[in-house]
Amino acid sequence: MQPKTKNTLQEIGLQLDRNQFPRVYNGGIVKPGDTAIVSLTPGKVSNHVKQRQRRSETRSWQGATRRQRTSNRSWTPSRTTSFICSSLRKNYEAELDAVQEAYPGTKIWHQEEGMWLLTESLVLPELGKKATFLCAIPYSPMLSVRSWGFWTTSISIEWIGPRHTNFPDGSICAFEIQDKTWKSGDSIIKLLDLYSLWALRQEHLREIGRWPGRQSVHNSHERLTELRDNEYCGCALSDRLYGDCCKRSDLSRNQLANAIEFWIHFARQQHRKPPHAITNFISERKTLPPIKNLLL
Ligand SMILES: [Zn+2]
Repeated sequence: MQPKTKNTLQEIGLQLDRNQFPRVYNGGIVKPGDTAIVSLTPGKVSNHVKQRQRRSETRSWQGATRRQRTSNRSWTPSRTTSFICSSLRKNYEAELDAVQEAYPGTKIWHQEEGMWLLTESLVLPELGKKATFLCAIPYSPMLSVRSWGFWTTSISIEWIGPRHTNFPDGSICAFEIQDKTWKSGDSIIKLLDLYSLWALRQEHLREIGRWPGRQSVHNSHERLTELRDNEYCGCALSDRLYGDCCKRSDLSRNQLANAIEFWIHFARQQHRKPPHAITNFISERKTLPPIKNLLL
């Protein structure tokens, strides 16, 4: 990584630690935000002022990232009939021109139950790779979006994870569902902006060695195995660093019992990875799986 790019990454990371807004520009480029500190509770939307040239802000990025508890999810055909909401579909379709402008080159496939989007985010200028997102957006308010991120170049594809991805399918966890940072029917551009910022945080983790900003990791085994001491703790008191917060109590627990409990309840002894249908599509760009196969 070029020093200038790394400096930008560090600057945005420091801002995230201080609850300051980065900004997302067309093409999914993330830049440092204003220096004014905005205080808000995770999940709440601030009244931060937009400037004209700024297309959109990921205003609720402070919503801590946490993988969803997906022990009941699988990549198998749903036995339940999804409720298709035509107004939801119209909502999404009405935004597609703006999506094309915000994320040029976005490809869209329509299915009866929802739409697939394939988009690219530059994330940082001169990063040398793009974050490619494949997103399933259902037309049912009862189903959540499901998306996967990949670092792509002209010769390589690499899944982005496993930090802050869901079990077991490795899909993106960029916000807490219960925070309502993004919910069914909300702006697709905002969703893609949140993903662009999620990818930037992933790159920060790789290059700088820590996840920047607040996060939610409520399970002690997860915290022990994933969090660095100098990252924000994932507990409810997440304005403290892990080394100064829950690490000592996490270490004092019965770690084997914790690990077994965690794997039984959340991970089902599976490692996170995208389903073959998804990785096949990303590499071959031929056949997309039916959205109805997404069981939530
Ligand atoms: Zn803690």
